[in-house]
Amino acid sequence: MKLLEDRIRKDGNVKEGNILKVDAFLNHQMDVELFHEMGEEWKRLFADKKINKILTIEASGIGIACVAAEFFHVPVVFAKKTQGVNLDGELLTAKVESFTKKKVYDIVVSKKFLGPEDHVLIIDDFLANGCAVNGLMELLSQAGATLEGVGIAIEKGFQAGGDALRAKGIKLESLAIVQSMDAATGEIIFR
Ligand code: 5GP
Repeated sequence: MKLLEDRIRKDGNVKEGNILKVDAFLNHQMDVELFHEMGEEWKRLFADKKINKILTIEASGIGIACVAAEFFHVPVVFAKKTQGVNLDGELLTAKVESFTKKKVYDIVVSKKFLGPEDHVLIIDDFLANGCAVNGLMELLSQAGATLEGVGIAIEKGFQAGGDALRAKGIKLESLAIVQSMDAATGEIIFR
């Protein structure tokens, strides 16, 4: 999506450790009009899918998922991050290793909000090694729900997550795929 690529070039910052900072428009300050264009694009890309729910993960996924949901006319469920879950049978849970913070945490969703009747689109801001998306997929499988696809704002194509999902036959639509980026020069090349 050219609009998003242009914005990343203009306002994104490449940091050491393969981190792309986009906090000026995506995950701290949020450009909601850009989110609107992204939501419309996901709706176009997943037009052939019967989706009745969007699943994302707190915090950065929530804003983009909510704006996208207005195009799909479906509710958004977000997985909450916690440390140590009380397994009382009411929760779907999975473990996720944070790419940016390098620690493992639990993600949880109430069984009330995901079940076998659900056809789900997963949305998140970044795809790197795929841990977050894999954790969300684990919640879907515990719920007996159907994964219809994955919509990502920025995929870092030089990390393994995206290609692993494609190899499994999952419909993955990343609006911008970074092929390479250089912290020294700030150069970002898109796939
Ligand atoms: P993964 O689980 O695919 O390894 O990483 C995806 C998650 O880590 C996303 O939910 C996102 O919050 C965070 N993340 C991964 N790479 C980056 C990055 O380059 N910049 C930012 N801001 N977040 C990232």
